[in-house]
Amino acid sequence: MLKQIDFTKLPITEIVNEIIFTAAQAGASDIHFDPAEKGIKVRFRIDGVLIDYTIVPESIRKNLIARLKIISGMDITESRLPQDGAIKMTIKNINLDMRVSSLPTNEGEKIVIRILDYTASLKGLDSLGFSPVNLKKVKELIKEPNGIILVTGATGTGKSTTVYSILQTLNTPEVNLVTVEDPVEMNIENINQIQVNSEIGLTFAEVLRSILRQDPDIIMIGEIRDDETAKIAVRASITGHLVLSTIHTNNALNTIERLTDMDVETYLLASSLNGIISQKLARKICPHCMKKRPAIDYEKKLIKANLGVDITELAYAEGCSECVGGYKGRIAIHEVLVISQDIRDAIANGMPKEELRKLVYQGDTKTLLQDGLTKVLENITTIEEILRLVELDDESVKIVTAKDNVNQQQPLTSNQSETINNSAQSVPIPPVNNDVEMLDV
Ligand SMILES: [Zn+2]
Repeated sequence: MLKQIDFTKLPITEIVNEIIFTAAQAGASDIHFDPAEKGIKVRFRIDGVLIDYTIVPESIRKNLIARLKIISGMDITESRLPQDGAIKMTIKNINLDMRVSSLPTNEGEKIVIRILDYTASLKGLDSLGFSPVNLKKVKELIKEPNGIILVTGATGTGKSTTVYSILQTLNTPEVNLVTVEDPVEMNIENINQIQVNSEIGLTFAEVLRSILRQDPDIIMIGEIRDDETAKIAVRASITGHLVLSTIHTNNALNTIERLTDMDVETYLLASSLNGIISQKLARKICPHCMKKRPAIDYEKKLIKANLGVDITELAYAEGCSECVGGYKGRIAIHEVLVISQDIRDAIANGMPKEELRKLVYQGDTKTLLQDGLTKVLENITTIEEILRLVELDDESVKIVTAKDNVNQQQPLTSNQSETINNSAQSVPIPPVNNDVEMLDV
């Protein structure tokens, strides 16, 4: 994709606009301006992967950095300290909202632009890739007048998109909806959004205390990062508010564990928690170059064990002019846990994790792996992509493969035995780090 631009003939404003416009059109989430020996290397992050775009020559390095700093409202005379800025601009009729960050490195200043893309959030809950069963659960969850709903996942898993989509759904004239965020990622009409500013003491906890005096119905907390915020979230929900927030955990089980580790009364937590939506983003297979290949033995076993389905072939894509390496766009894979009375009791009674795990995955809750593999069978993504995202020694996986396992008699390799060493069951789970080798067909 490396592009040759004749930088000497263009004014700096046009160079910057061209880079930003191209990135936005390509669906990039970030633009990196990396200091290099002979200028600045420009890279785009598309579908989660960084791709080289162009190299800006040394002769215009200073101008480029200065221009980026000016349009993002940074101090152009300061190059020794990190700075934050923002750009709102319209290029060729595309409205762009961007967050900009500068960082001094030993090679010079590095600038990263995050392009905030609201289009996914604006399309609504129905277009986020939830399976029909999960979508129904989410819609039921957000109907509750009080309680806590958590969206969990690592950075860059689309948590904000899900939260904003839920907020859009809940945003009706009859309710007072207040958010406290750091940062406010998307402006939504008719919602009071508050930006945390810890420098002046305006912390999540501080804002939340004030919000509770503002007669709210629904409160969105950007992220539960500390005990105090968790405590106030619980208090807010048991006093009759619907609380929506995010937390940095892998799955529902880890989320419960993380919350019970926090300084929150477990009986209050047990009664307030309504649901946990865990998610990851999988790259979608390119429909233009998709082909089928025979499935190998362990893929058949994995899918049989997790979905109870026999397969003979799987989709793959080599890459074409329409995509990057066989992938184009992304889709979320989910695990949606609706907290049942049994789970509430288990949390309140401090049930050991092993038992809680059984309880969580005993019901109709599909694990991230199951949801991902379902999307593999629907030719939306590839098994390689799902195995890259979901660790096969994840606790949620073990319980499912143990329960539905049909290959108990299969002898284990030494690697496999090692992987499941801590599992209570003898389950053939493929070793995590060998997936490339095993998938090389
Ligand atoms: Zn393709």
